[in-house]
Amino acid sequence: MTKIIKFTVDDIRFPTSKDLTGSDAIHTDPDYSATYVTVFTSDNNLKGFGIAFTIGKGNDIVAECIKHFFPLFIGKTIDELENEIGKLWFQCVDHSQLRWLGPEKGVVHMAVAAIFNCLWDLIAKKNQKPLWQFVVDSNPDTIMEWLTFKYIEDALSKDEAYNILQDSQNAKENRIQKILNEGYPSYTTAAGWLGYSDEKIIDLCNQYMSQGWRHFKIKVGLDLEADVKRLELIRNTIGQDCSIMVDANQQWSVKQSIEHINAYKKFNLLFVEEPTSPDDVMGFAKIKKEVGSVKLATGEACGGRIMFKQFLESGAMNVCQIDSCRLGSINEILTVLLMAHKFDVPVFPHAGGVGLCEYVQHLCMIDYVLINGEKDNKVVEYQDSLHEHFIYPCKVNNGNYMPPQDLGYSIEMKENSVNEFSYPNGKYWKKN
Ligand SMILES: [Mg+2]
Repeated sequence: MTKIIKFTVDDIRFPTSKDLTGSDAIHTDPDYSATYVTVFTSDNNLKGFGIAFTIGKGNDIVAECIKHFFPLFIGKTIDELENEIGKLWFQCVDHSQLRWLGPEKGVVHMAVAAIFNCLWDLIAKKNQKPLWQFVVDSNPDTIMEWLTFKYIEDALSKDEAYNILQDSQNAKENRIQKILNEGYPSYTTAAGWLGYSDEKIIDLCNQYMSQGWRHFKIKVGLDLEADVKRLELIRNTIGQDCSIMVDANQQWSVKQSIEHINAYKKFNLLFVEEPTSPDDVMGFAKIKKEVGSVKLATGEACGGRIMFKQFLESGAMNVCQIDSCRLGSINEILTVLLMAHKFDVPVFPHAGGVGLCEYVQHLCMIDYVLINGEKDNKVVEYQDSLHEHFIYPCKVNNGNYMPPQDLGYSIEMKENSVNEFSYPNGKYWKKN
């Protein structure tokens, strides 16, 4: 019987602040980082890998927090892990002492995300499938055992969730075939970082258009006039047939949000992302009331399913941007996908960073095949950086994420990359 025998966690940091990759109105110098968890089993050939994503300092704090959860799992057989994964998840988020640091948000919840991302990788590998395939092949009764409805049952009952899963069973095989043939559409954020020059933006837009992308997101938020100029530049470069969306990364007050968004109206934006504080459900609702048909997107900084419940139910979130490393992994992500489906809000998962594209490629397949059944009017974020550090990087074809075929959750890093970018003792950080 294969047992869990050990965990390790590495603090991996990539020096992306050097070239302003990832720069936005608030996070001006991110070093894309991962708290990288490995689970070892009594079978030498079976390991699991998982990450939480941060942007530099504090990555060590998440790593420290993760270690508190290890004792819960050591000595369990992998069958026990798979059969009890729902119960174990709840034990972690409801830990009688650690929950004080959250509950279910912040560092302690990111630690849960990292460790469960790692455990789901292990479970999928044990079942010899890519994670998305393992999830969509599971039956609704099994899936329901993974989920926690505490605090959201007033918005989504267990029966409603079960019926959504049950309804998709007939269409499942067709959807799998379609997704294997076509992939899932993506948008690129990589052309419009705030620190980039006009020339660089034009070059990147042309480059991504020639590779098949039709949706472009740019960062805004520091200066209204400069933002309008950049939007004009991009609209002139990509033409009227392509879509533009903007991301303000929490920069504005409610009043400023209304002013800025109304000034961008002529650009016919697909959505405006994170205009104000990611916790301000009422603020989003006020903005929405004043900007008419402009869609508001948010979610990458929403700590858990309870925030999503409020945003979705209030109508303040028009595009739902789940984050694979901030929500508590598959157990919680599925409940948010189910709620979004119930409230008829499209899910456009947040990605970029490091490893997030590797994760969301699984999540969009799950949303399409198992829950929502729509993909042609939806796009998932894509960013073309740091994929070279992964053994099974995501594959994008003509602007579409192609379903991963390798076993697990696609996040195993190359040993060289781990050795080079471990902080502070990796080769790169010792030299710099
Ligand atoms: Mg964003």
